[in-house]
Amino acid sequence: MEKTKELLYRPIIGMELHVELKTESKMFCSCKGDYFGREPNTEVCPVCLGLPGALPYPNSKAIEWCIMLGLALDCDINKESYFERKNYFYPDLPKGYQISQYKKPFCQGGKLILSTDKKIRINRVHQEEDTGKLTHAKDVTLIDFNRSGVPLVEIVTEPDFTSTEEIKEYAEKIQRIVRAIGVSDADMEKGTMRLEPTVNLEIREGEKLFFTPLVELKNINSFRFAKKAVEYEIKRQLEEFRKNRTVKTTGNKTTRGYDEDSDTTFPQREKEEANDYRYFPEPDIPIFYFSNEKIAGLKEKIPELPEERQKRLVEKYGLTTAQATFLGSSKEKASFFEKAVEEARKQLDALKALVTGSTKSNGESQMEIYRLVANWLINSKVDINIISPEQFVKENLERRKIQAFSKEELGALVKRVIDENQKAAGDYTNGKIEALGFLIGRVKGIEKNADAEAIKRTIIELLAEKNN
Ligand code: ZN
Ligand code: MN
Repeated sequence: MEKTKELLYRPIIGMELHVELKTESKMFCSCKGDYFGREPNTEVCPVCLGLPGALPYPNSKAIEWCIMLGLALDCDINKESYFERKNYFYPDLPKGYQISQYKKPFCQGGKLILSTDKKIRINRVHQEEDTGKLTHAKDVTLIDFNRSGVPLVEIVTEPDFTSTEEIKEYAEKIQRIVRAIGVSDADMEKGTMRLEPTVNLEIREGEKLFFTPLVELKNINSFRFAKKAVEYEIKRQLEEFRKNRTVKTTGNKTTRGYDEDSDTTFPQREKEEANDYRYFPEPDIPIFYFSNEKIAGLKEKIPELPEERQKRLVEKYGLTTAQATFLGSSKEKASFFEKAVEEARKQLDALKALVTGSTKSNGESQMEIYRLVANWLINSKVDINIISPEQFVKENLERRKIQAFSKEELGALVKRVIDENQKAAGDYTNGKIEALGFLIGRVKGIEKNADAEAIKRTIIELLAEKNN
């Protein structure tokens, strides 16, 4: 629990996250799913306009993608599942209800693990449809139904977050997973990914325990704003409690919007409880049954996720977390690295000389080679689309051949040059800095691949020893 002046409190934060799927067509009709930048109300039909008598027919691709997302978040897939009508009145909802899922969503009971090893429980991953888009102009409100009926997946967590860092990390992880599976752009600014954190506080005062009323936050279009909105809301609820000392609650969730200009939240509509939505099964769409084979098949289609890839790079190649995070962030980078490693293996002898501690066991020095290749890739600005992994390894080997000299070899060479150039050595010792450049040049004259930095260091060391 956090402590302020006189109160002990703990934020309780949950997250509802919507992702718009980028299927060809909408959720329950064949209108185009991509509405971005289109003339308003041009991608509509009786189904997505909610005209009487129009019948929905579900998009099987969207359902597969929803289930893949659920599987990626470690959910159980309901073998039997159905859509329900969520009834509420709002102008952007032409039917007067949203086709969503309630009692039997496609996916339930998953989890996501944060970098701190904290587990965020996922209550459900369900399928629904997007609403139309309202634009408030001067005297009128305009409605564009192009977005109406676009497939939407909602991911709902348990209230497991206790800090704003956690919600930010969670949302970023979900975004990476969604993008890796390739089912949505998950772009916060475009609104193809939307976050709605729910916030309240547990407050302890002496023996008494209070819970502030639950607030859902809307209008958030960046990770940063999500953090700020929640931070503000925690402060506001604490202030509110300080003023009243008791908690007034209707038991209902209230909705507040976030205003980025003033960095505050403001009240929106009172949120209806689930029973106000009068959920009931959608009579126009039959029940879905999923076989084990079907689910296993979808699981197979999930590509390696960034987190898994990073974990694999650590385990298989002994990379550091920082290296693995960088190289594992994209499939392309990781596969370039793995091919480069393949190539490096072929050049093992040349490489072995490059890594320090050749006395180490084979396994260990192998790992060092992998880390070396990783560093080459991280530190160089190569365009992996232009250079081949083979060429990349070759060039780096050439460039760094000097390091293949053992310290002793380089030392012997430098010693020889110093002996042969006593005058220059003496000049340097007496403060003539230019003499150093001359000596380095001599060493390079004998071994052109030698690294100037290493030579310089060795000369200085040897001369210091000599004069001691
Ligand atoms: Zn339509
Ligand atoms: Mn929803």
